[in-house]
Amino acid sequence: MLDEYIEEQKIVYKTLKNAITKNKYSHAYLFEANGNPNAYKIVLAFAKMLLCPYNYSNNLNCVKCTQCHKIDNNSFDDIKIIDADGMWIKKEQLDELQKSFNTKSIQSNKKIYIIKNAEKLNVQASNSILKFLEEPEEGIIALLITNNMYQLLNTIISRCQIISLAKSKKTNLLELLISEEELELKLDIINKFVKNLEIEKLNTLLVTQNLWHDYFKERTNYNIGFELLLLYYKDLLNLKLNRKLEVFEIKKDTLLEISQKNTVDQLINKINKIIELKEYIKVNANQNLLLDKLIIELVRGE
Ligand SMILES: [Zn+2]
Repeated sequence: MLDEYIEEQKIVYKTLKNAITKNKYSHAYLFEANGNPNAYKIVLAFAKMLLCPYNYSNNLNCVKCTQCHKIDNNSFDDIKIIDADGMWIKKEQLDELQKSFNTKSIQSNKKIYIIKNAEKLNVQASNSILKFLEEPEEGIIALLITNNMYQLLNTIISRCQIISLAKSKKTNLLELLISEEELELKLDIINKFVKNLEIEKLNTLLVTQNLWHDYFKERTNYNIGFELLLLYYKDLLNLKLNRKLEVFEIKKDTLLEISQKNTVDQLINKINKIIELKEYIKVNANQNLLLDKLIIELVRGE
């Protein structure tokens, strides 16, 4: 339950626990997973705490709660979980949800639906969700989980309370694999790489390709390269939106120059492309081909 994450998710834990103990929870939350593999477990733990008759955050206290036992055994009717059916989450899945929520609950006074991979809501499904969110019903709580908030409709995002999960220590590539000096070097390389592509465009193609190959050769390194690149573009977007830079503050001058050459939409598109291509590393896609695609996307920047 939620208490397991008290260390890893300091801020999130405090926010969620406060919301429940003060009985001031929102009717919709959007959890930004940030690659944390425990995202679903954390969200489920929050749902359990919301539904537990005593709002316990520690499972050990729940020995006598019938509800909590039912949730553990997946036999609790008032939590519904929706995930992609193939590529997308479809409208029919949400229609079904609505139907099942129309019958009055006999088990508790709250009903919760969790949407995994919310970035996979198709257009029609997004509109259905929007209707849910625009006219919230007493006692119904939506918990959306996504690894890519930028693919959701702005109108959905604006109706949810956003909870950004801390990365799990184990998945934090940067902390795990790169020492301080190495990180500094790699930030430098990524900065040069993006600068070449965004400013020199294709004039320095060969040099730029080699730059990547020299520093992000093997598969693990490839992952780090893409991870850093993603952070770079997120910081470009942060700069564009006058937000605080997360990683590349030391390269602010270059970032400023590059961000002026991109619109907000272009930066969001590039972020989405990098996330999309990053997925191919997992399935061992041809690395040269991947790099070529990446370069084309970043130079073209539509
Ligand atoms: Zn309980």
